[in-house]
Amino acid sequence: MLPIADRWFEIKHISDDITLLYEPHVVPLMRCNIWHVRGRDRDLMIDTGMGIASLHDAARHLLDKEVTAVATHTHDDHIGGHHEFDHILVHELEAGNLEAPAGRGTLLASVIGADAVRKYALVGYPFDGDLITALPHADYDMASYYVHPAKATEIVVEGDIVDLGDRQFEVLHLPGHSPGSIGLWEAATGTLFSGDAIYDGPLLDEIGGADIPTYIRTMKRLRDLPVRVVHAGHDPSFGRNRLIQLIDAYLKKRA
Ligand SMILES: [Zn+2]
Ligand SMILES: [Zn+2]
Repeated sequence: MLPIADRWFEIKHISDDITLLYEPHVVPLMRCNIWHVRGRDRDLMIDTGMGIASLHDAARHLLDKEVTAVATHTHDDHIGGHHEFDHILVHELEAGNLEAPAGRGTLLASVIGADAVRKYALVGYPFDGDLITALPHADYDMASYYVHPAKATEIVVEGDIVDLGDRQFEVLHLPGHSPGSIGLWEAATGTLFSGDAIYDGPLLDEIGGADIPTYIRTMKRLRDLPVRVVHAGHDPSFGRNRLIQLIDAYLKKRA
């Protein structure tokens, strides 16, 4: 029997305008970073976690104006809460998967299967048991979990601008981890929200939808970006030196 969590989301204020939310009771493989970015006219919620508990409720104190829920890509751990938001942004190549997810998703290791569990352990994501280590409330039924569909209201491609009034993010199409992976790049501050294109942990380039030659091109592109800070889809944020290290390690392994 799993313990009951006091609260489902942890919340960390990174700066005046950026807040990190995450789900500590989800195993690292599926524990994504959820970034709330405050703008003058509109805020962003970049990714939304697993959808096990309400992100909208947990973040209510942050949601004082229009907010766009961005999908950096449509893996289960990044889109679980999108259905709770009115305005939803995704790359054109993954809008279909957001609206009609390819699988229903699961929290159960028995459904994931021993082979897949072993593969994840080999690439650096061991987990022992199911995908959560606590329940959101006492009568939560893990088997009832599914990924809620969400219909995009804004479909983007490379070069589109996401305008918050006082800050502008450029959409970078960063495929490789998934076909429609995007980053949001704020040139004025050198800030990149990278999704799963790059993070400071084991990268996944052999899962369904991933493509190594494409990933290599994305890495080379990111290497040339004048980044000051990367807020990624998983793991801690990092600066340009670490970005170059991560890219070079990837290129050494794969290129
Ligand atoms: Zn992913
Ligand atoms: Zn992810």
